[in-house]
Amino acid sequence: MHKTFEDFKFNKQILNAIAEAGYTTPTPIQQKAITPILAGQDVMGIAQTGTGKTAAYVLPIVMNLKYAQGNDPRALVLSPTRELAMQIEEQVRLFAKYTDLRTTVLYGGLGPKTQIAALDAGTDIIVSTPGRFLDLYLAGHINLKQLKVMVMDEADKMMDMGFISKIHRVLEIVPRKRQNLLFSATMSELVHKIAGDFLAFPTIVEVAPQATPAATVSQRLFKVPNIKTKINLLQHLLKDDSELHRLIVFCKTKVSADNVYHFLLRKYGEEGVRVIHANKGQNTRINSINAFRDGDVRILVATDVAARGLDISDVSHVINFDIPIVIEDYVHRIGRTGRAYKTGVAISFCSPAEEYYVNKVEKLIRQTIPIMEIPEGVVIEKTGIEEKQAIAKEIDAQKRKENPDFKGAFHEKKAANLKKNNTKKASARKPTLKKAGTKAKRYR
Ligand code: AMP
Repeated sequence: MHKTFEDFKFNKQILNAIAEAGYTTPTPIQQKAITPILAGQDVMGIAQTGTGKTAAYVLPIVMNLKYAQGNDPRALVLSPTRELAMQIEEQVRLFAKYTDLRTTVLYGGLGPKTQIAALDAGTDIIVSTPGRFLDLYLAGHINLKQLKVMVMDEADKMMDMGFISKIHRVLEIVPRKRQNLLFSATMSELVHKIAGDFLAFPTIVEVAPQATPAATVSQRLFKVPNIKTKINLLQHLLKDDSELHRLIVFCKTKVSADNVYHFLLRKYGEEGVRVIHANKGQNTRINSINAFRDGDVRILVATDVAARGLDISDVSHVINFDIPIVIEDYVHRIGRTGRAYKTGVAISFCSPAEEYYVNKVEKLIRQTIPIMEIPEGVVIEKTGIEEKQAIAKEIDAQKRKENPDFKGAFHEKKAANLKKNNTKKASARKPTLKKAGTKAKRYR
């Protein structure tokens, strides 16, 4: 049965906030998760970003807490990254707008003074990254006695980022009797383990099987021989600014992101493009994200790590300048477009060395990505010697990974050279070469 937001018996304040946010129908994860969360059950939600999972837990939490009470937090949401923490906080504020509930967001990377002042002023809901939360708790700024509900969002990312021991420390300090909610895009072994430590008899709700990209995203693939041609293709696609009006260009490394960014910067200037990766300062990153989200900047170049948890809706296109090395990141990347009920396009550029990863992606998503012809007008550059070698080496390494007995072209060449050198060396050796205690050996 399809539920409306009214069916959940939310109060007037919340229904007004939902209407103001422009939500008309609950998304599938909201359909399934809101009722058990309202009822106080532990819930494990398997849902990717873009499915509306944040509101699926924020709405019932706001409803259950109702109004400000005392000074100590009654809800705690843990997030792997500060960007996600900020977005969750934004949603809490959105839905708590007509209540007097107080929200505090905590994350590292900047001084704790303002955050401590906010905690001291009294709070009902804390949204935090694990490290900063523990620091402020250990420094005595947080009293957890009143905590009623705890959420772990993007649990898979938390595990990937090595937060497991921090999470266990948090579990030691929170009251035993509480409601627990865990959300994760995938169910890895580690997520399974942390779920076992965290949840008691959970209700499991799942939307879309694991690692299935949203049906609202149309995917395309270009086979491109080298980086220079990738740049030409990117430039060509960007000419269509009526269709590609808001896009994220994903790169697999900081170096690649910087290269693409500098190229685009020369063409479009600071007003047209920004870059986010781990080497950028916290403030620069936030400024760039805000400028992009507000529509002031058309293009955002990002690495996977920097973009983790980023909630930017209404992105028309995702361009994978490189295929991600961590295959699951493909699903996260293209989830930036076609969010909620909007549609989007994800375009991937694939070099010969990346076909291996595309195959893995296709297996994971159980779909074949349609291949497109490189449009006329895009200059196909010759692959330089260095890049050619790098590609051959990479392909060899991939073949060896699949088949440990494989002796690649590279290996064979190397082996042949080695043999040649050894023979040379051997013949150069003097026949009377002696090692202590061994008989002289004659080489003919
Ligand atoms: P999330 O999966 O929580 O990151 O949400 C993805 C996007 O969908 C966010 O921009 C939300 O504001 C939006 N959203 C969430 N629920 C709904 C809904 N019921 N109707 C329309 N948009 C929604």
